[in-house]
Amino acid sequence: MIPSILPTYNRAPMAFTHGDGAWLTAQDGARYLDFGAGIAVNALGHAHPALVAALTEQASKLWHVSNLYQVPQQQRLADLLVDHTFADTVFFTNSGTESCELAVKMARKYWSGRDTPRTQIVAFEGSFHGRSSAGIAAAGSEKMTKGFGPLLPGFTHLRWGDHDALHATLDDSVAAVLVEPVQGEGGIRPMPDHCLRGLRDLCDRHGILLILDEVQCGMGRTGKLFAHEWPGITPDIMMVAKGIGGGFPLGAVLATEDAAAAMIAGSHGSTYGGNPLACAVGTKVMEVMTAPDFLPEVNRKAARLRQGLESLVADHPDIFDHVRGTGLMLGLKCRIPAADFVQAGYAQHLLTVPAADNVVRLLPPLTLTDDDMDAGLERLDAAAASR
Ligand code: PLP
Repeated sequence: MIPSILPTYNRAPMAFTHGDGAWLTAQDGARYLDFGAGIAVNALGHAHPALVAALTEQASKLWHVSNLYQVPQQQRLADLLVDHTFADTVFFTNSGTESCELAVKMARKYWSGRDTPRTQIVAFEGSFHGRSSAGIAAAGSEKMTKGFGPLLPGFTHLRWGDHDALHATLDDSVAAVLVEPVQGEGGIRPMPDHCLRGLRDLCDRHGILLILDEVQCGMGRTGKLFAHEWPGITPDIMMVAKGIGGGFPLGAVLATEDAAAAMIAGSHGSTYGGNPLACAVGTKVMEVMTAPDFLPEVNRKAARLRQGLESLVADHPDIFDHVRGTGLMLGLKCRIPAADFVQAGYAQHLLTVPAADNVVRLLPPLTLTDDDMDAGLERLDAAAASR
């Protein structure tokens, strides 16, 4: 008999009832160290006091009115995002998947009224952009597309790092390139800075819109507010979700005025997107992350964790191949099945997340303390020793 929850995830048996900082408490009272942060969602940890206060204050006032009216909480968050990024304008969604839908629509709409309309979106193998029809067509992997009938047309897939194919494919017929600056689900694979710069140049040469999917790597995870700040480029359109809501469903598409110019009333919509509760939390997340000390601390912790992981890998060469990633978006490339290592972590009350390419993802809350980090390194060591 089918379970009452559709079994589209392989779930671990733990059920959590509480969270504080980098820790989760299970139904049986056991405490787990959370190095997955809800897959990069709980960027400020669980029950961050400022987020709890923002949410409860808003919850006592107003939850929802829809986007038929002005939403001042949205305006505040949009202003913050515009102030701190390349963007001129923001559209709020509820998830990364929805952000992908809009980003693709916006790019095609941009080209639709022109003399030579373009529809083709170039994306990369191994990428992940959500599981909607546009998301699976963009990622193109057989695992996600098989059995779902004809895919949305107009997506081309390039191999990650195949420069020749990139140069051959990007021409004046392409509407947009869609890329994660650091692939998350694909196995923590950062696109090197010079490649991102080269991609931006190629797009400029052919008038192609550059869409960055910063759903997983954005919101402070790499040590900058957004990953594309490292190579010093700017996209035309950017997808955001996960960390921006700090655990509350919230996403956004950020765009330049030019890229968004064709979007008019009725071009896109969302009943819940940017609701007052989500935006009250998102605003607080932005305020915390843009405080002067926040990102320098993330970078300090990232360097410390990386050093610990390099030692771990050196101590367990039979289990690990190398450390990869950037900031607090790190991966352990395993020599044993990554899923087995994640299981071994559960036995040590440590939560990590498997990814493709046999990588174990470490995505701790950006607010983790040095003690949390040391506890995590000890548990990783114990998990490796148990194998
Ligand atoms: N894009 C990227 C890079 C992601 O990592 C994810 C989720 O893991 C998504 C899009 C989809 O986001 P959501 O699960 O919020 O719909």
